[in-house]
Amino acid sequence: MTTLADPVPGGRPGDVERARALAQELSGQGVHGVVLSYVDTAGVARVKSVPTARLASAAAWGVGMSPVFDTFLANDSIVSTDVLGSPDGDLRLYPDLDQLVALAAQPGWAWAPVDRITQEGEPHPGCSRTALRRILVEAAEGHGLTLKAAIEIEWAVGEGPAEGGEFVPALSGPAYSATRQVELSDYTADLLSALATQGVDVEQIHPEYAAGQFEISVGALDPVAAADRSVLVRQTIRAVARRHGLVVSFAPAVFAQGVGNGGHVHLSAWREGVNLHAGGEGRYGMTADAESFTAGVLGHLPALTAVTAPSPASYLRLKPSQWAGVFTAWGRETREAALRVVTGTAGLRDRVANLEVKPVDLAANPYVALACLLSAGLEGLTSSTPLPEEIAGDPARLDLADAAARGVRRLPTSLIESVEEFRKDERLRAALGPVLADAVIAVRQGEIAAVHGLDDERVAAAYRWKY
Ligand code: GLU
Ligand code: MG
Repeated sequence: MTTLADPVPGGRPGDVERARALAQELSGQGVHGVVLSYVDTAGVARVKSVPTARLASAAAWGVGMSPVFDTFLANDSIVSTDVLGSPDGDLRLYPDLDQLVALAAQPGWAWAPVDRITQEGEPHPGCSRTALRRILVEAAEGHGLTLKAAIEIEWAVGEGPAEGGEFVPALSGPAYSATRQVELSDYTADLLSALATQGVDVEQIHPEYAAGQFEISVGALDPVAAADRSVLVRQTIRAVARRHGLVVSFAPAVFAQGVGNGGHVHLSAWREGVNLHAGGEGRYGMTADAESFTAGVLGHLPALTAVTAPSPASYLRLKPSQWAGVFTAWGRETREAALRVVTGTAGLRDRVANLEVKPVDLAANPYVALACLLSAGLEGLTSSTPLPEEIAGDPARLDLADAAARGVRRLPTSLIESVEEFRKDERLRAALGPVLADAVIAVRQGEIAAVHGLDDERVAAAYRWKY
């Protein structure tokens, strides 16, 4: 369980001694530096690094970094809000030692996610990891709930180097095929080995549908740890690929046409160790609380897309009949509804039943996305929001009037639309706090302006190697 305590100048209790011991251990393993990692509002993982010998100092006093990255765009240009985006000021990055790990595919390096505080020792209001921790505290202290999450990762493997930014698939076999499995046998074996060494419990890995595409799924954790893990797994996938002379793209749409890379999110709420998504009196074993949690997420989906599908390229992926879930609907094991109720197999349900959210991609800052998704679910749960009728099959085939009557609507088809929905959604803005919510709006507007006038292929190319 991730610590819910904010960092403080001088270090969280016990952290400095722990960092000293860890540094000694890491040095003994030949680790020279620690990558301190966070994700900006545009969804790009940004880093600072320290020599291993300075880990205890980082745990005590943090490491400096400008707050300007909160309003960076994926192309490294900068927008601003009334409080962010200026060249002034500094923040302190504090590593979470619980999540620190030596990087198996980057010998000499370890990695840790950070929380960011101000130089005055206050939590930085733009820190998305802190915002997510706040939601977990609210769930625990306000409602006696524990939350879990897991983020799936899809990525496309290309031949390197990517000359001129082009993507050339490193695989030629069919989707899900043994041919592909053999084609990248060494790469995927090295990837599994690196992840196992790092303590990541991989559940599955398989060749996916799109050109060069793979998917990996990992076990559920507390949501902050799940977001950290998503960043770490991508760092590892990229590093292993590089060692094999390959390149990888996590972009929502590697090409303008066809199936994209998703980052489906699995969520569950638990009370006193009992999974609320199983063994209940509601539909498919959901408890009344799990039904309302699902209804809460469902009701906020149009605004949620501003944080779960945050890139102009996200809307090249969000198309009907490609398993990206672009309709506001839920169904049991329905891969075309935005929400898939996963019951799991008889015998395992109390452990594995959960809610899968599909219109999420890996341009999303996972902390921001999870904070908003969970806050929406908690709102549903605490106000006992009724869950509408389920759908089966592809909603794209429903008669429009029939769909509307059932409350099934198409999710935003552009970032412009989803930002407008987010702007109107007080619950989601409150979940992030005004500073981070304004950064989300400003950065989305910046991305919209950055692709103004570009055709779809150019939009895909602009973000192909960014995430
Ligand atoms: N690639 C699909 C997406 O864009 C998901 C395929 C699957 O269900 O695994 O979300
Ligand atoms: Mg998949």
